[in-house]
Order: sequence, then C-alpha cells, then structure tokens
Amino acid sequence: MAYSYEAPVSQTLFDRASLVTPGGVNSPVRAFRAVGGTPRFMVSGTGPYLTDADGREYVDLVCSWGPMILGHAHPEVVAAVQDAVARGTSFGTPGEGEVALAEEIVARIEPVEQVRLVSSGTEATMSAIRLARGFTGRAKVVKFAGCYHGHVDALLAAAGSGVATFGLPDTPGVTGAQAGDTIVLPYNDLEAVRAAFAAQPGEIACVITEASPGNMGVVPPLDGFNAGLKEICAANGALYISDEVMTGFRTSKAGWYGVDGVRPDLMTFGKVMGGGFPAAAFGGRADVMAHLAPAGPVYQAGTLSGNPVATAAGLAQLRLLDDAAYAKVDAVSAELRSLVGEAFTKEGVAHTVSAASNMFSVFFTDEPVRNYEDAKKQEAFRFTAFFHSMLEQGVYLPPSAFESWFVSTAHDARAVERIAAALPAAARAASEATA
Ligand code: PLP
Repeated sequence: MAYSYEAPVSQTLFDRASLVTPGGVNSPVRAFRAVGGTPRFMVSGTGPYLTDADGREYVDLVCSWGPMILGHAHPEVVAAVQDAVARGTSFGTPGEGEVALAEEIVARIEPVEQVRLVSSGTEATMSAIRLARGFTGRAKVVKFAGCYHGHVDALLAAAGSGVATFGLPDTPGVTGAQAGDTIVLPYNDLEAVRAAFAAQPGEIACVITEASPGNMGVVPPLDGFNAGLKEICAANGALYISDEVMTGFRTSKAGWYGVDGVRPDLMTFGKVMGGGFPAAAFGGRADVMAHLAPAGPVYQAGTLSGNPVATAAGLAQLRLLDDAAYAKVDAVSAELRSLVGEAFTKEGVAHTVSAASNMFSVFFTDEPVRNYEDAKKQEAFRFTAFFHSMLEQGVYLPPSAFESWFVSTAHDARAVERIAAALPAAARAASEATA
C-alpha cells in the first residue's frame, strides 16, 4: 500500500535504527508492521500533542500506551522530576519517595494492604505469579486468551497486544516446561474456568486476568465475570490476580477495582503510576505479601526498584489525579466515542465502539465482541486505511486494531476539533478499503 505523504527524517532514523536494533524498535508494536509505513520518531510532546522528527504535529491518542493521563510534559510532573533529578538519580537504598508512592497506592486501592515497587508491568506480573505459586505451593496458572500481561515466559501463551497484532501462536524461546503449567481459557467464560478447576483439583495456584482487557482491543468483562473468578478462586484455594497495569489509576481513582469493586488477592500496576517513567508495582493481601523476601522466602529484587526520579514522577501524577481529572478524561472519551461512531455510521462501516470507562477501541464488526476469537473476526484491514488517513491528517492512533486508544486531561476542545475534522475522510477510507 502506498501512502500519499512522506516522513523523510523518520525514515532516515528508522533506517539507522534497523541496522542496530532488531526491526528498528525497542518494543514490537511501535514498528507499524500491522499497518505498514514508516513509524514516526517523536521528538517532543506537549499536552495532547506529539511532534515528530519531520516537524509534523499530531493529536496523540496513544498517550505512551496509557501512562500519560495528564498529557505530555505536565508542568507539575516535570517540576517534580527536575527536583528529584537534581538530588541524584539512584541510590540503591530505601528513600522517602518510594514510601510516599506506596502509601498513595495503598490509600487509593483498598485491597492493597502492602505493595512492592518494580520497574515494569512485566516484572509486576512475573513477580505476582511467582508469589502466588510460592504462597499456595501449587504450579498451575490460568490466563485468558487475548489478555496480555507483559512478556513473562509463562504468560506469553495466546497473549494479546503485539502477540495479537502479529498473530503469533506461541513465542520461540518459551520452552514447554515454562508454558506447560499455563492453562489458557477463553475470556468471559466462567464455565471454562470451573471446568479447569474441576479437572485439576488442588493444582491451580492462581487465575490472572486483565481487570478489564485492553490488549485485544477493549473487551470489558461481562457482568459478574470478575466476581465469578474471585468466587471460584476462593472456593478452590487459589489466588485471584487482577492485572491493572493498564486500567490502574486510569479507569477511576482506584482503577478497575473502583469500577467493579471485586476484591482481588493480588493486583499489578504500571503505566499511569510511573508518570511516564519505569515504575510499576504488585500488591494485595498482607498475609500473601508477607511471603516476599526479605519478610518471607519468595525472592524478588531490583537494582532500580523504587527509583527516586520514577517515584517522584509517579507521585506527582497520582496527586494530580483527583475526581475532577477523571471526570474530564471520561467526558473527552465519551465525546470522541460518539464522534467516531457517527463518522463510521455515516459511511456505512460496520463497527462497534467498545469502551471500559475512558479506555476505548473500535472493532470493525457489528457482532458482539466478548473474547479474543470474536475480536479476531473483525475486518482489521479497514483499520489500516483508517489509521493512515488519521495519521496523514495529524491524529496519532495506536498502530494496530487490537489496542486501546487513550486520552488525557489535556485533550481539550481544540484537540477534539482536530480529531473531529479528520474523522469523515478516515471513515470514508475505511469504507472503501478492501482486504
Ligand atoms: N499487563 C498489562 C495489562 C499490560 O497492558 C502491559 C503492557 O502493555 C503489561 C502487563 C506489561 O507492562 P510493561 O510493558 O510495562 O512490561
């Protein structure tokens, strides 16, 4: 497919990058392989806008895949970072910033009695699984097809996000032994979960689920699904792990827990809590967390865990996220969802705008999407045409039909107008697209 516009500086950078980095990127979905064309190399961000190396400005609907809920370079977050950086970047000792961030998390999310800070969402889920296995003395883990929990070996079976985008059935390098204790079930199917527990009594350590999945596109849990998981886990002596790396501190002040109130045994966080820096966490029941070293025998550690600059950024961002901030993000999300829906309806494009609080995405089908199998039935080729038209008109969408779109408190009327102006031509491009 040829694109009518060029990005010569990004192209040059991508050529350079491709010589020294596999595929030219440090995280696969950034490479535009699902949509084609040259990935844009960004040089700066302000509020809802990104500027690329060719000097083009975009309204950003990716927000760094979730973290930038206050928009880019928020002055108070920048000031907190500058203040922290000036005092030194890493000490390898405990520091007050990490205590304050842990206190903020515990105060916001009631089921989190204790929390351990790490540097990525992947580390958080990997550690939570290890802790669940150590606590229960069991080996097996239940996950759901289309849910992505980072690139943890045991959790890369039937994962979402980049794995969904590229349709990888499995990842070479993950051995049978590493994946052998992972049971992959269809999402939103409690009967399948009950059957798995019945077939393997006393063997399942935990069920891990995205609190509300955003890595196969946005596919919220059906009413009662999370509560059912919790109940099944409790009845079988297994732990219920809610992965809130994406939804945490985004879908409400207390993340998805603040939406559905289902109390997990363990939870994982990342993205928003780091304010754009590598900070993540896992936490939950104090009796379970007490099994973690040095309090208990389950080992887990990190040179940069609780890094002072990352914790300063995260804390500054969380402290700005009050009820008014969430109301603003929810309102702009609702406005965009209705504009997007109207544009596709006008062009006769079969679509479903799927939302979970302020996270949303579009499926190019009018059939209900309840799990990964449903999501894969969409006409994803329409997304490619839509994506490139939006990009050409200065709107930056996630470069895959299987990812959530994200907005921020900085998405103001001007940003929304620019998106609204781009939608008619992009919806037309989607309607004219062929497989
Ligand atoms: N869990 C979920 C739900 C995610 O969406 C992601 C990343 O997108 C991860 C875990 C992994 O986080 P990270 O990319 O910080 O390792």
